[in-house]
Amino acid sequence: PAHCRASLEASTSSTEVPVHGLSETVVGVLGGGQLGRMLCEAASQLAIKVVILDPMENCPASNLCHHHMVGSYDDSATVEAFAKRCGVLTVEIEHVDAATLEKLEQKGVDCQPKASTIRIIQDKYLQKVHFSEHGIPLPKFMQIDDLEGAKRAAELFGYPLMIKSRRLAYDGRGNAVAKNEDEISSAVNALGGYARGLYIEKWAPFIKELSVVVARGRDGSVLCYPVVETIHRENICHIVKSPANVSWKFLKLATEVAYKAVSSLEGAGIFAVELFLTADGQILLNEVAPRPHNSGHHTIESCFTSQYEQHLRAVVGLPLGDPSMKVPAAIMYNILGEDEGEAGFLLANQLIGRALRIPGATVHWYDKPGMRKQRKMGHITLVGSSMGLLETRLHSILEEESKQDE
Ligand code: ATP
Ligand code: MG
Ligand code: MG
Repeated sequence: PAHCRASLEASTSSTEVPVHGLSETVVGVLGGGQLGRMLCEAASQLAIKVVILDPMENCPASNLCHHHMVGSYDDSATVEAFAKRCGVLTVEIEHVDAATLEKLEQKGVDCQPKASTIRIIQDKYLQKVHFSEHGIPLPKFMQIDDLEGAKRAAELFGYPLMIKSRRLAYDGRGNAVAKNEDEISSAVNALGGYARGLYIEKWAPFIKELSVVVARGRDGSVLCYPVVETIHRENICHIVKSPANVSWKFLKLATEVAYKAVSSLEGAGIFAVELFLTADGQILLNEVAPRPHNSGHHTIESCFTSQYEQHLRAVVGLPLGDPSMKVPAAIMYNILGEDEGEAGFLLANQLIGRALRIPGATVHWYDKPGMRKQRKMGHITLVGSSMGLLETRLHSILEEESKQDE
């Protein structure tokens, strides 16, 4: 309806088809994985058209989007052609061609968040430099080019040594740990060698990992979701609990750090700020994602406005929605591939079968074409009246009854 439409800054002149949703802006998303898929789900409710650019014909978002252009979001000409179909260009992955986005911005294409944000974030070393220059607390870090450099970092920071790839990191795939000097070479080789571009981070002796999803609207308004606790398994996000069970002081500090980190970046949309809480009471930034994030999946069932709807509202210029929780507690459990191929599907099916019988549990399946160990295949969100209840229910889905009393 016309009275629901926000005044839009974005040009709609390139729209091919007349649209009659809450916004007439066609949202172009670089990447069509599970985050793109859930953006499409939210867009469907608002009747906002989403077009996807992803190289994989059967990517998770392909069946839910208005149009899927098959092609690389890392190829300049392809992204340029794609941009012509969109009123606003956004991302569900930061590993896109930042130079092309900068060029497109100069030509007047509306990118949200801004290309400058993608450029800073996609290189984790530059990201660290950026945030340290903005006074955000983070673990000490140092670029390395060779074994000598790695040893120097070890002398300064001590072991274990966290070696990270500057680029193309996700799900811990760009991280390797050396417990002593002898392990440096194998860790570096596992990451593809020094030439790949590596840096070292001081080990963060965290007692908890926290995350804050932050939304910024086109008008500059900023809203923070409740602080959540993230639990990783082998560097991969595995369980998210909302709200985080930490004192009010740390909730406030985590939110302040997240707010400050996002304020130093340009553009509208959802951002997720991953944080470490250390034993001595520090909140340190791990990294920021310039897009919806695994730690915000739970918001679909637990918050008044999900991170996906919020991202769409933000990039098209609608007013931001309420990020607060509408239930006392939520747990998100990632369904990670436990085995390759059919055996993996069988295990996932058994898990889902149990989840479907649990009150307050919602199953999300991303419809990925292949099963691989550690691949994010889907997730389960539990909502309910208390965290204790949800923990018991999760244990029963995981058939971990014996651990209930832990
Ligand atoms: P994502 O999928 O979140 O993008 P990523 O591949 O970018 O992951 P990081 O977030 O850098 O990887 O690290 C993954 C996990 O490894 C962290 O969540 C944390 O558990 C651990 N980790 C990362 N950096 C450190 C550190 N400096 N000290 C201790 N543990 C760390
Ligand atoms: Mg990352
Ligand atoms: Mg991370």
